[in-house]
Amino acid sequence: MSFENLGLSEELLRTVKKQGYSIPTPIQIKAIPSILNKQDIMGTAQTGTGKTAGFTLPLLQRLMQERQQGHGRRHIKALIVTPTRELAAQVCKSVETYGRNLPLRSTVVFGGVSISAQVRKLQSGVDILVATPGRLLDHVNRNTADLSRVDILILDEADRMLDMGFLPDIKRIISLLPKKRQNLLFSATFSNEIKKLAMGLLNNPTVIEVAAKNTASELVSQVVHHVDRKRKQELLSHIIDTKKWERVLVFTRTKSGANKLAEQLTKKGIRSTAIHGNKSQAARTKALDQFKREAVRVLVATDIAARGLDIQQLPHVVNFDMPNVPEDYVHRIGRTGRAGHEGEALSLVCIDEIGFLRNIERMLNTNIPKMSLKGYEPDPSIKAEPIQRRGQRGRNGSNNSYGRSNRSFDRTSRNDRNSDFSDRDRSDDRRPKSPWQMRCEQQKRRNRYGKRAS
Ligand code: AMP
Repeated sequence: MSFENLGLSEELLRTVKKQGYSIPTPIQIKAIPSILNKQDIMGTAQTGTGKTAGFTLPLLQRLMQERQQGHGRRHIKALIVTPTRELAAQVCKSVETYGRNLPLRSTVVFGGVSISAQVRKLQSGVDILVATPGRLLDHVNRNTADLSRVDILILDEADRMLDMGFLPDIKRIISLLPKKRQNLLFSATFSNEIKKLAMGLLNNPTVIEVAAKNTASELVSQVVHHVDRKRKQELLSHIIDTKKWERVLVFTRTKSGANKLAEQLTKKGIRSTAIHGNKSQAARTKALDQFKREAVRVLVATDIAARGLDIQQLPHVVNFDMPNVPEDYVHRIGRTGRAGHEGEALSLVCIDEIGFLRNIERMLNTNIPKMSLKGYEPDPSIKAEPIQRRGQRGRNGSNNSYGRSNRSFDRTSRNDRNSDFSDRDRSDDRRPKSPWQMRCEQQKRRNRYGKRAS
């Protein structure tokens, strides 16, 4: 199958050639003709499968056709919603790249940066808007984004949006769109929640399932190193040094853990930086940029970087801390092994995380090869500890990864992950608060007033 057979215009075929794409990927083969036929799509695609080009190329062609038919003034005709700012910026860049020679305008809006430049760009008129949900609704509330004439809606990484608590925002956004439109929904995993969203949104969709759900890319070789929790950093530095790894993405469970590890590695002469939700958007962009242009060897990230990001030629991903949500493992290691390149995923597993590893292996239905490096073998006298006690995440520390996680554990970890992804301005936080969050806030208020009184 070649791109010529998919129904793309000469102009877009030239663009594809310029990008160096010789054959379409499986998702492109299936998605491009369907989207050109104005069909709705429910796409389950592994990361790094060429999904963005798969929806952007036909989207551009459709908008060009309408333009040629002279459908009036410039207004937002295509809306692409993504869960994270980084993914929004990346998708917008792809739209700009693929549409470079076309008279279509696009822009991206997300939180954490000034809104006024975004307002100016929107007021000058755009055809394609890429947005994160919170900031998009801010624009709607200010009347700076009019969604009433959107023809095509694309929800990218929909499962992550639901994970992050964006469902109410998504519903609100959908309620602002015209009833008659084309809908494309992409999700890396296909949970019951996603099926429910899809049923309410999509009209007789073409279902595209490029990879079996919850599978890791075959191009990524996986290995587990068993090591004591206190020796992880030492082992990681040793491996990076001896194997002469030049580009490594390392995942930690917490934001403070990411900062600490980046500092420790830098002290050992391995240039590193951290990216997580406590950093300003400018600092997040800078860290990613430094990593992409190889100004640092190691990017230490919380799960904010696990989804959607396309870092060209990333050969190594390390799980410094194992994720307690098995699906996150798939997304993390999916940062490597992209676009036909091979990759290696190394997981440093201490005794506290054996249960997390078991859950991941159960989900993948595979045994990940295990090893321990001479001189770094785990000390059998060390006992397992609950993960949260070390993460200092509050009072729900009654469980560790050995047992099946209890509800309070799941809730705590999910809140922690969500806070890391937050794309909203603080003033715009409409998410319902859990009893635990409310208690924390009450305590903070008490502390504040206590301090003032003294
Ligand atoms: P995505 O899954 O959309 O993030 O794309 C992953 C990577 O694949 C990006 O770097 C794209 O530039 C690249 N890519 C997309 N389509 C193709 C193709 N047909 N051939 C080779 N690389 C591609």
